[in-house]
Amino acid sequence: MNQPFVMAGVMGWPVSHSRSPLIHNHWIKTYGLNGSYGLFPVKPENLQQALQGLSALGLAGCNITIPHKVAAMQYMDWVDPHAQKIGAINTVVVQKDGTLHGFNNDGFGYLQSLQDVCRDWRADAGPVVVLGAGGAARAILVALIEKGATEIRLINRTLDKAEALAHEFGTAIHATPWSARHEALANAALLINTTNQGMQGSAALELNLDALPTSALVSDIIYTPLSTPLLDQARLRGHTTVNGLGMLIHQARPAFQAWFGVMPEASKSLTDLLIASL
Ligand code: NAP
Repeated sequence: MNQPFVMAGVMGWPVSHSRSPLIHNHWIKTYGLNGSYGLFPVKPENLQQALQGLSALGLAGCNITIPHKVAAMQYMDWVDPHAQKIGAINTVVVQKDGTLHGFNNDGFGYLQSLQDVCRDWRADAGPVVVLGAGGAARAILVALIEKGATEIRLINRTLDKAEALAHEFGTAIHATPWSARHEALANAALLINTTNQGMQGSAALELNLDALPTSALVSDIIYTPLSTPLLDQARLRGHTTVNGLGMLIHQARPAFQAWFGVMPEASKSLTDLLIASL
């Protein structure tokens, strides 16, 4: 091969569970590129050194995962305004001059996953109910607002966190107590679970869907299991459902493009590979 070797990876602690190597190495193979994507287990106290070493090692960049998504921002030379709004990055791109640029593609990945299932989906189609106010919720809220969502009912077990996000992100967000979650589904067009409830090893999300119109799209960003009890329940009521695998795949696409120069496809073969790994 005459192409230069391109290396990237994911920094996290722990990181061995990450599916990112599977995704990026699949694309490297699919597009016949000369490169590799690895796992970088980096303890929090070593984050600054590890990021500063990217350029010296000749890496194209890296993904950033838990627990570094917020802390990594301070070591960037430039942070994309969308990521700045979210307050976290999940992608670092090393520039030609060695400087580091930070991005967050989680919101992009989430919106693409909806559009895969519902091509004509619109953020302003009706009220959106978001359960959870953690890191993933921040990325999804910013993406929804940028796409034109006008009413977002943000429901979190700890109401203070939802109120803080409403204050930070503006009047489209209405912080709603956890106890009001069942009634808050009335006339919603989209329901999104961003809590960890329903994830393997956690309790199922306790949510009565009776008030939710059957026309509403129901999405859960969890991908282990692929179908959570929430999605099972929603399908039985006739809702169109979206699982978390699409978000995982699509968030990786802009990073791959930045490092390897090809915007990869979210193909069925990749989805099958990931499902086999769950
Ligand atoms: P996080 O920042 O730790 O937030 C967790 C959220 O879950 C908080 O809102 C928390 O509420 C809520 N929660 C925790 N235990 C709860 C309980 N017993 N009852 C009700 N709510 C509870 O986590 P995150 O990074 O946002 O991730 C959340 C989920 O999204 C995880 O399952 C993760 O795997 C998934 N995820 C998927 C993707 C993807 O690509 N598909 C990407 C990122 C994350 P409090 O504020 O009250 O604690």
